[in-house]
Amino acid sequence: MTRREAIAACHEVTVSYGSGSASVVALADVDLTIGRGESIALWGPSGSGKTTLLHVLGGLVSPTLGTVSWKGELLSSLDARARTRARARGIAYIFQSANLLPHFTAFENVAFAVDVSEAADRNRDPEELLSLVGLTAKLDALPAELSGGEAQRVAIARALGQRPELLLCDEPTGHLDSDTGERVLNLIDALHDELGFAFVTATHDADVAARFDRTLELSDGHVVDEQTAQW
Ligand code: ADP
Ligand code: MG
Repeated sequence: MTRREAIAACHEVTVSYGSGSASVVALADVDLTIGRGESIALWGPSGSGKTTLLHVLGGLVSPTLGTVSWKGELLSSLDARARTRARARGIAYIFQSANLLPHFTAFENVAFAVDVSEAADRNRDPEELLSLVGLTAKLDALPAELSGGEAQRVAIARALGQRPELLLCDEPTGHLDSDTGERVLNLIDALHDELGFAFVTATHDADVAARFDRTLELSDGHVVDEQTAQW
């Protein structure tokens, strides 16, 4: 495998919540370097630290110890406002629930995200983004009128509107039945091949993890194993 340029990394990251006897170590001494265009699964049971690691990589949570970098900039040394701006340049999220704005149509949900994005090219057409995810027929639908899979596809279009170089997905198929989940993963895979963003997906499902270039297994906040796909 050719060595890829690193776009994001965390180094010796520890995250603790609370203090004293009530303190919880959500991540312990985690190192991870993400290459441009690479796909990585964070795999482990509930409570193993997957969501916390995504939040650290995306600059939503500051590590208690250690450093996090994004495109050569140390996120962990920036204040909250500067971190938000750095993050707006190329990091997008997809969550377990689509989290669409309920009173906005599919089109408006995507248009709003494109509008607030600081991506270099913010002139992406929401209609074109929704056609990439096969939802041309649902432009004017409200979230309540969409199926779970359709809502998740709107969330994918919304994330693409930010021109992500890093897409962070937290159990993106966790609320979907297995066929719909499979279709959503195939769609993210196809978009990854076409658009070349790096993506990191948290999952507790071994079959989902097996689809990625690399799998980090987490247990109690520690990385306990790392597998690289042999293809
Ligand atoms: P996962 O996504 O693998 O289920 P999380 O990263 O959500 O794991 O959680 C890791 C550990 O950190 C768990 O023990 C969880 O209870 C704890 N934790 C996560 N977020 C918080 C928080 N905001 N406050 C206190 N504890 C938290
Ligand atoms: Mg989680």
